Amino acid sequence: MKRHARWLIVCAIVLLGAVLLVEFLSKRGEPEGPVIRFWGAARRVGGSCLLVENAGVRFIVDCGALGETGSGALPPRPDSLGFAILTHAHIDHCGLLPELFKAGFKGRVYCTPATAELVPIMLGMTRGISREKVARETYDRALASLVPIPFGEIVKERSVSFRFMRAEHLLGAASVELMLPAGADTVTLVVSGDIGSGNSVLLPPLEKPRHADYVVMESTYGGTARDTAVADTLESHEAFAEAVGRALRAGGDVLIPSFTLGRTQEAMAVIDMFMRKGVIPPETEVFVDSPTAQKITGVYRRNKADLSLWAHEAYTAEALRFPALREVRSRTSLKVHARKHLPAIFITSSGDLAHANAPRHLMRMFGDRRNLLCIIGWQAPGSLAQRLLAGERAVLVRHQEAKKLSEDWVSPAITVKGFHSFSAHADSRGLLAWLGAARGAQHVFLVHGEERQAAVLAEAIRGTLGLEVTVPRRRDGFVLTPRKGAVPKAFKELPAAGVDTLKREGAAAPDRVYEGNE
Ligand SMILES: [Zn+2]
Repeated sequence: MKRHARWLIVCAIVLLGAVLLVEFLSKRGEPEGPVIRFWGAARRVGGSCLLVENAGVRFIVDCGALGETGSGALPPRPDSLGFAILTHAHIDHCGLLPELFKAGFKGRVYCTPATAELVPIMLGMTRGISREKVARETYDRALASLVPIPFGEIVKERSVSFRFMRAEHLLGAASVELMLPAGADTVTLVVSGDIGSGNSVLLPPLEKPRHADYVVMESTYGGTARDTAVADTLESHEAFAEAVGRALRAGGDVLIPSFTLGRTQEAMAVIDMFMRKGVIPPETEVFVDSPTAQKITGVYRRNKADLSLWAHEAYTAEALRFPALREVRSRTSLKVHARKHLPAIFITSSGDLAHANAPRHLMRMFGDRRNLLCIIGWQAPGSLAQRLLAGERAVLVRHQEAKKLSEDWVSPAITVKGFHSFSAHADSRGLLAWLGAARGAQHVFLVHGEERQAAVLAEAIRGTLGLEVTVPRRRDGFVLTPRKGAVPKAFKELPAAGVDTLKREGAAAPDRVYEGNE
């Protein structure tokens, strides 16, 4: 009986050993692949950061802040990151770069040449706003680490190769095609960055991915199909130009509050375009009175190679330079205008009408219904511009006159119109067309969108393109296995908890789309 029991134990041990050996061998044969972790912009807009770990190299794509204040969460162990890649200069994609260096990061930061010029301006703008203080020296080191790489050029950093593709969203904005080694295979991962709407006058068309094994795609307007979307860029801006032309001919002034990065330059180009066609009276003065906008326009001028065919034909000398344009200091626009009393166009910084020179312009213009206020960007619910757009009969305007802050309730008579043609983000149709071009894609991860937008887009992708879709949560990790013939390899989800502790969490992150995201 005793001998029998001993035999049983020996058999069990042998059996267990055999099982473990088989599992070990089967795991050995299983292809390893790069690991991606979603560190930001998961089920929300803001704080973009994708962590990639591959063959001993760790790096990130984007290092975005959550809001204008520069809050947000850094990826784990910044000191062990080999390098970083930035898709574009909006703060929700690059805003935490100084904090990353402060936390020990020492690598290169790859971006396109235009992005390398825009990032210092954008970080400079947020530096003053209640963000965590980063020593000047660290801040400068972050900026000195930017490595400009032209679109299309293949970069090899350690075992990873990548190139930038045009994303049309903003000057210098890129999608990134990453070639990641996986054993004897290579996994192609395409990270979309923010994808343009196709309506840009100044930027060349976006480049769609030709091939990808895996795609990380934005979904800001994934659940939205714009009814104003038309195939022709010119046509899409016609309603705006006609309204501006009508107001000016009726003796009114036109106020266009606009974000300094991208939107202002697009508005300048569209106005010039329709002045050439006579839709907007060509003798009208166009005031751009934000010093930051002028700095950014300078970057557009210096990076003419990144501008559209139209821009090259329209501006044979310097880009965005036309006879009607008056690039002036903040208050000069009002002084010059007061002298001449001729209808004029004012493009002011502060897309929401609440800051800089915008309230001052509004206080001068609100009482006359011949004046036109053009809202060309997304407005937060409850904001001044949104209230005006909704036709509220009394609105509170906070404005500053001679260093004195005043608050006034006004009954606006000014005509207010909203235009979607300036949107810098693709809608659901644009996103599907971009993704549909990627041959071989087996799985798509949707980021940079509120849950509803991402969920609607996920269904559309499954339905029309037949791809597998995941809307990851923050910290979710996935192994990207290389393809085996036509059979897609299943994902292995990594435990989300206990991977790494966060360096710091953002405090009271505003759950809203901010500058440049519309
Ligand atoms: Zn953006």
